[in-house]
Amino acid sequence: MIRGKRGGAAMISLGGVKASPGEKSTGFIDVGDDRYKIPVAVINGVLLGKTLGLFGGTHGTEFASVEAVTRVIRSLDPSVMRGAVLATPLLNRAQFEKRTQYTSPVDKLNLNGVFPGDASGSLTQRVANAAFEGIVSKCDALVDCHGGDIDEDIRGFVVAAEGKDAAVNAEALALASCFPCDLTHVFPASGGMSLGAQGIYGIPCVMPEAGTPHPVREEAVRFHHEGVTNVLRYMHILGGEPKRRAPRVSRRRLRVLASVSGAWHPSVELDDEVKKGAELGRVTDVFGDVVQVAKAPEGGVVGMTRCFYSVNKGETLAVVSAFD
Ligand SMILES: [Zn+2]
Repeated sequence: MIRGKRGGAAMISLGGVKASPGEKSTGFIDVGDDRYKIPVAVINGVLLGKTLGLFGGTHGTEFASVEAVTRVIRSLDPSVMRGAVLATPLLNRAQFEKRTQYTSPVDKLNLNGVFPGDASGSLTQRVANAAFEGIVSKCDALVDCHGGDIDEDIRGFVVAAEGKDAAVNAEALALASCFPCDLTHVFPASGGMSLGAQGIYGIPCVMPEAGTPHPVREEAVRFHHEGVTNVLRYMHILGGEPKRRAPRVSRRRLRVLASVSGAWHPSVELDDEVKKGAELGRVTDVFGDVVQVAKAPEGGVVGMTRCFYSVNKGETLAVVSAFD
């Protein structure tokens, strides 16, 4: 079980947003630019318990995560909660606004590559710093919701962090098992991702991934919402038994790239099981002639597919999650 240390049954203050036990408050954390201040919600339970940090829109175009965290914030009732939830429905407002792929339009940085950030750095670094120091440092676990970025589609899997502490690693896998999917990826708790909080603060961290920017599918929103609700039950912030799965664990995501520009015709669906050498799809030229047959480099599960018809050389066509 996750060790408790902080939330609930005392006033919580988050960048000027205050909530007494039994209260839900919303407001903003200042990052030195009024357009992009971070929206936050403090949902403070009536009894002592654990604190969950919850992010949506770390990549601001992964809209299902934004919608799901918004719904979680609105649906939680602090009068029946132990502990607390500290949530932002939309961490990366600049990317949300301009719909840029992966990076901020302001400073060209990928927010999920600069954690723990820098209070005196550029906008993305300041947002990362405020998110970690302002929110995550007060939490017992972090769920950072993601999904497919501009050209990606994902049905649903969870990335669990792996650091030096075996007990915390096991807790991250336990959080991953709370989401309604059969695949957990393991990534190192380092490298500038939010998963780095596992090493910095010694708390389990996961990144659930589901959806594509257009359309925002209800199925993807529900994946996040149901998973976060189960995490809250697992942490005893909400009552009831969590519904958990026994997902397969993959340590390797194999990206298949376009070797030539053209039009993409996938021949697999998300979550399809493929054998090594199986055709994933074809790239054709403007006359319809096949210029690339994309094949699975190893056997595994199709974890991500390209959702655009047009493709440029070097862009991702599909990702195969491989098992050892
Ligand atoms: Zn993302």
